[in-house]
Amino acid sequence: MDLLDTLTAKGLRGEVPTREEALAVLATTDDELLDVVAAAGKVRRRWFGRRVKLNYLVNLKSGLCPEDCSYCSQRLGSKAEILKYTWLKPEQAADAARAGVAGGAKRVCLVASGRGPTDRDIDRVTDTMAAIKEADPAVELCVCLGLLSDNQAERLKAAGADAYNHNLNTSEGTYGTITSTHTYADRVDTVQKAHGAGLSACSGLIAGMGESDEDLVDVVFALRELGSDSVPVNFLIPFEGTPLAKEWNLTPQRCLRILAMVRFVNPDTEVRIAGGREVHLRSMQPLGLHIANSIFLGDYLTSEGQAGQADLDMIKDAGFEVEGAGEATLPRHRADVAEAAQAAHAGGSCGTAASACGSGGGCGPCGGHARASDAPALEGSGDELRDDLVKVRRRGAGTELAPNA
Ligand code: SF4
Repeated sequence: MDLLDTLTAKGLRGEVPTREEALAVLATTDDELLDVVAAAGKVRRRWFGRRVKLNYLVNLKSGLCPEDCSYCSQRLGSKAEILKYTWLKPEQAADAARAGVAGGAKRVCLVASGRGPTDRDIDRVTDTMAAIKEADPAVELCVCLGLLSDNQAERLKAAGADAYNHNLNTSEGTYGTITSTHTYADRVDTVQKAHGAGLSACSGLIAGMGESDEDLVDVVFALRELGSDSVPVNFLIPFEGTPLAKEWNLTPQRCLRILAMVRFVNPDTEVRIAGGREVHLRSMQPLGLHIANSIFLGDYLTSEGQAGQADLDMIKDAGFEVEGAGEATLPRHRADVAEAAQAAHAGGSCGTAASACGSGGGCGPCGGHARASDAPALEGSGDELRDDLVKVRRRGAGTELAPNA
């Protein structure tokens, strides 16, 4: 297939495909699916070998958010019966983080619901990071606290954060249909603030919200332009009690095509399968490892994933290996760009060239859901609740039960 030969050749050279080529990946048929996965797999192995980076989520503050992101179980007015609690104490968060690291996680992602942190919240997170680093000095810390105000990214960087997550989630054109309380531009601004402070950029998307193929391609190219070092690909978890709980627009085949498109557009960038992996890929999860080089271990913010041991077994059975703490995630040329940005920041000239690096933030893979009213229905089972697939988190951070790791 000419398309896949072209995409493979470009990916092996670290080149980005055209927008038309990216759209063509999403339009491939199920008969072509294994060829698509194989082509994306060649690109993945060129830059990331057979390594899988494990990330571990700690939800520092859950629910009761004043924002109205339609996809989110923690949103204003959500009736999802999720855990609701205010800030964990540093030692509570450190206990949860320790479980994730012991399970093989290289990065711990500290997430709090809300529009954005107060300066007091930055103090709390600073204390939490210190507690985690005291136990595990080598652990990578990514912070996700929503929209940042001036100087907050610099404070997080000085306190030991390695990365900041703030997802763009969907295309600029669709953004207004999923959230009214902040804008796409607000999200871009926070990504740029984080990057400008020398934090590694983690910014991704949510698929399955009723968006078009063009929307998906738009947001993935925007993330590439922002220079995200890590692109989490969330597949919408339709929680009962959120506006679009009954909409299921994804199949495992569609998810694999989306992952492949993200890989081709970001050949040398960390691509992470995030929330919704178990719900939507189901028995096809191992094929996703041939495309993405990173996953979350164990549970998500408000929903439960498969057992951490099942994640580890899946990686081993599929012929991959967990990336060690001493191994670099990004290829050398990408790491050089990130280090140059950090050096520029240390020298006081960070200026944030949006096309050179980037990041994403916002609240992580909490699941949620929205649908652009004029968007066509995609593949999937339509209007039904699937509480057999969506399991609210009842263990780990904020509970008396042990974390899943
Ligand atoms: S995604 Fe974040 S800001 Fe939006 S409703 Fe959920 S917790 Fe609040």
